Amino acid sequence: MHIVSPSFEVLDNLDQESLAVRIEFCGRICYKSEDKIDQNSALPFVTKMAEHGHNSVLEMGVVTLQIHCRDEHKVTKLFFTQPKYLHIDHRGGELLITGSVRAFREMLMFHPDCGMVRAMCSYLNSRHPYFFSTILPKNGLQDDPTISVTKMELADIDRLPPEKLAKHRHIGVKFIVNRAITHEIVRHRPCSFLQESQRYCRYSDDKFGSEVTFIKPMFFEKDSPEYSIWHKAMLDTEQMYLQLLETSSPQAARTVLPNSCKTELIVYANLAEWRHIFNLRTTKAAEPSMREVMIPLHEEFKSRFPNIFS
Ligand SMILES: Cc1cc2nc3c(=O)[nH]c(=O)nc-3n(C[C@H](O)[C@H](O)[C@H](O)COP(=O)(O)OP(=O)(O)OC[C@H]3O[C@@H](n4cnc5c(N)ncnc54)[C@H](O)[C@@H]3O)c2cc1C
Repeated sequence: MHIVSPSFEVLDNLDQESLAVRIEFCGRICYKSEDKIDQNSALPFVTKMAEHGHNSVLEMGVVTLQIHCRDEHKVTKLFFTQPKYLHIDHRGGELLITGSVRAFREMLMFHPDCGMVRAMCSYLNSRHPYFFSTILPKNGLQDDPTISVTKMELADIDRLPPEKLAKHRHIGVKFIVNRAITHEIVRHRPCSFLQESQRYCRYSDDKFGSEVTFIKPMFFEKDSPEYSIWHKAMLDTEQMYLQLLETSSPQAARTVLPNSCKTELIVYANLAEWRHIFNLRTTKAAEPSMREVMIPLHEEFKSRFPNIFS
């Protein structure tokens, strides 16, 4: 048995990477197959995700588009589709639209006749055809001369005024925490999540050190009687889990694993949602082990985006 402290990492190094690289990095957390990442692995990985409909992985690639539309009627038609998963700012024919690869794909699948949707997806498809190849409309995606689409670069997003910045700037965080904490974090609905899968991961394998990893509970002092009780419970549980794996699948054996089990979770959200999360998860009412990671994370966000979080 292995015991680690909880931790987090702001994934801002990913912001500089291509959509495919970002999606692969996050997607592989489910299978703990990060060792398979190399210079050529991203495109086959994301193509497979798109083909197999593992759509939540495609939420980890977010792009902001600047759109100029000379036909106001086409803008109105976009709003008639009630785009739930796009963040939109609109002034006359100028639009700023942020969405994930999944959001744009599904807009095309469900609203293929909407000119704005076709124009956005045509732009994205010309740069990232592997995301759209299986869902292109029969008559293709011709450019619309009344609609111009360009990508907004990250540096320009970071220069937006605070409320637009909060809406359009997305950032990912990787948490290494216990399962009780991830169960609470995933209640925040506007976020995208990917989590280490106990169905796929077999902790008896060499790559997991043939052992179960647990998160050190912040409630019990190291040499206290309570800590000893917890420690024994984890040892016993690990033994039962490993014994079950001799005859059962990981998804069956995991039924004995407890809340203290270590898990990895990537949370991807815009700054407005992070602000909401910090409001709820850093106060005295929040669970202490949640505060253990959220308070220092909040401090990091404050120093990165003082206009939004201070
Ligand atoms: C101290 C504490 C104790 C808690 N105790 C419990 C408990 O005992 N049992 C329990 O089940 N949960 C509990 N929760 C979880 C809580 O009920 C929420 O599910 C969780 O905090 C997510 O927050 P949220 O709903 O405000 O917003 P999020 O899901 O983060 O959504 C952000 C915003 O999006 C909007 N939004 C999202 N989805 C919808 C929607 N469907 N309709 C309308 N607006 C929407 C809202 O404006 C919302 O403020 C607790 C949370 C805390 C912080």
